[in-house]
Amino acid sequence: MEATTGMNKTPIPLTGFAEEPEDLKTAMRAACDRVLGSSTWILGSEVDHFEVEFARTMGVRECVGVGNGMDALEMILRARGVGPGHEVITTPMTAAATVLAIIRAGATPVLADIDPSSGLLSGDSVQRCLTSKTKAIMLVHLYGQMRDLDTWTRLCESNNLELIEDCAQSHGATWRGRPCGTYGVAGAYSFYPTKNLGAVGDAGAIVTNDDGLATDIRVLRNYGQRTRYEHEVVGLNSRLDEMQAAILRARLAYLERFTLRRRSIAEKYRESILNTHVTLLAEPQEPAAHVHHQFVVLTEQRERFQNHLMQQGIPTLVHYPIPAHHQQAFDGVSRDPSGLASSETHAQQCVSLPCHPQLTDADVHRVIEAIESFNP
Ligand SMILES: *Cc1c(COP(=O)(O)O)cnc(C)c1O
Repeated sequence: MEATTGMNKTPIPLTGFAEEPEDLKTAMRAACDRVLGSSTWILGSEVDHFEVEFARTMGVRECVGVGNGMDALEMILRARGVGPGHEVITTPMTAAATVLAIIRAGATPVLADIDPSSGLLSGDSVQRCLTSKTKAIMLVHLYGQMRDLDTWTRLCESNNLELIEDCAQSHGATWRGRPCGTYGVAGAYSFYPTKNLGAVGDAGAIVTNDDGLATDIRVLRNYGQRTRYEHEVVGLNSRLDEMQAAILRARLAYLERFTLRRRSIAEKYRESILNTHVTLLAEPQEPAAHVHHQFVVLTEQRERFQNHLMQQGIPTLVHYPIPAHHQQAFDGVSRDPSGLASSETHAQQCVSLPCHPQLTDADVHRVIEAIESFNP
């Protein structure tokens, strides 16, 4: 025991970037050199290639590289004509960017509660939020999981609503073998560095099987111009740059391997975490391939739990500590008339365990041991 104490205190890496394979680092350096040697920095061949490669890997017809995930969501809404006077239902248990994008598009966010067992949007609560102004549902595949897509597509069809998918945490996730982003009109990706596919700065993409929508997004991302110096709509400056695209191409080659590693870590956690003070979220639904952006557990003694793990050198995070309706920026936001109690409980109890692909088996074992020895 004594001899291993010191070793056990070596912190487990939070992101795992430094521990990534040497051949990936070499590929990223080569990507940078390629761009520096090209003299093209914006909307060049790296972006073209990345768009084709990402679309192919994700199993969709079209990919449009954009500045970040939040812009991607805003541009999908705008391209579909969702704006002033329209309500968009989404979850308070998400990155603030989801709600910000709705507001930026000029539409009104309406927050529905979550299903406490999964942390994802609750169908019953969404039903209570529907009004004559509801135009779209923004579905977040939180923590990397797709759930109940049959129900969501049926609900949107029967109420004539747009389904928009926030895929910022679900790179490569599928439902019945069909990829995220293809159940709705489009999917928005973020390549923020810590996402399952990350750039070395801000970056994002839109995927869709609708060619017309992809063309509209290409116009929107580039000041609203289809032909240079001719601005047909009020667009954004939200272009993916060549450097990020080149880096993403190098990293895309590792995505599948990294996703499999995340999955095996998650399976190990699921079978080994038995401590009754810690609750696991619902198992992935059968027809879904979960990509485990986060592995989240619930505990009523979160602060003690996080401190206990930290003492053993295990960093944890919270996704998310403040639900959207408690954010000052969204003060007075519309919501389920029955309240958002499950979101509030989740925000108080959720903890994200280390789950990145560079964790070693020994790291995973240490996390499990630390959790099993937690006794508040
Ligand atoms: C990261 C994230 C976003 C925002 O992406 P950015 O690239 O940071 O703008 C949106 N939604 C969810 C669910 C996210 O996790």
